[in-house]
Amino acid sequence: MGSRARAAAIAALVALGAVAGCRSLGRVPEHEDAVARGERCLEVRDFQGAELYYERALQASPRNAKARIGLARVALERDDPRAALAQADRAERECVLAEQDKVALLIVRGRACQRLGRPVGLVWAYLHRAYEAGGPETRQRLHKDLLRLAGQLPSDTPGVKEFLAAVPAGGAAARSRIRPRRDWDPGGAPQADIPMGKPFRITVHHSAHDAFIAGSAARSAAASAEVIRRMRAYHVQNRHWQDIGYHFVIDPRGGIWEGRPLRFQGAHAGAAHNKGNIGICVIGNYDAQGPSAAQVDSLTWLIRRLCAQYDIPKRQIFSHCDLKATTCPGRFLKRIVAELRA
Ligand SMILES: [Zn+2]
Repeated sequence: MGSRARAAAIAALVALGAVAGCRSLGRVPEHEDAVARGERCLEVRDFQGAELYYERALQASPRNAKARIGLARVALERDDPRAALAQADRAERECVLAEQDKVALLIVRGRACQRLGRPVGLVWAYLHRAYEAGGPETRQRLHKDLLRLAGQLPSDTPGVKEFLAAVPAGGAAARSRIRPRRDWDPGGAPQADIPMGKPFRITVHHSAHDAFIAGSAARSAAASAEVIRRMRAYHVQNRHWQDIGYHFVIDPRGGIWEGRPLRFQGAHAGAAHNKGNIGICVIGNYDAQGPSAAQVDSLTWLIRRLCAQYDIPKRQIFSHCDLKATTCPGRFLKRIVAELRA
């Protein structure tokens, strides 16, 4: 065997040993390094080996936080978020937690909630707390996730503004796509009587504006803002509602605008159907033509985001005409809504 071949053979044996070591429980490790061995198994995705080592560490010392958290991480890797949460609960109940254990647990909880489809705000709360409490390595590991989550949350979610402000310029893409109310109603103090509670459905409308008005709204953001102000004035003066009826308005260029704040119930689907119902109005008449690609993209993004945030199932996405005898939101837009619901 030449020296190069020998080196290769040794390297192969070492590599084999690293993996085989995870399973060689016959040679009982000192319980002190059972956790370290568990970690190594987890790194190479030998979940069975990792579990065995962590459990061994727990047999030796039932309050070993790192071993308990190790089991939670294995459960996550095995795509069993409920088991991960159960292990996290046990860690909190039974173990003495060092600062870094607490950070690890926050990450486990955040990731488990993400897998379970829990509200984005909750996932954010766990991971952001871990980010704040963790060291540079944790921060680096969580940064991308938090950027993505921040982009899906209202800017007044605790921590979001500060997090985005600390992101170097160029991270603008991560900012929310939703223009805040003040962009069309500066200084407004929107009020309505009925609190929204937890939203459980979404209804899509069109504004039925003629081509002239829709065309004017398409010219610029300032022009869209003017059309939204007129919509609000019509709702308040002619319909005697307290504020614009919709929670969101999508302009002809796909811009998404905050309307009535989500903390208030909307006025858009009729008294019987407004409860827990997020109203989205797309500017234009979609009996006459199809919405633009930008509008479809924004509507899709907004509805997915709201569904994820509030745990709204797809079957609770409606066209106005699903709830009432009306042509709203027009035959072209209705088709798109049906696809989003499918
Ligand atoms: Zn409608």
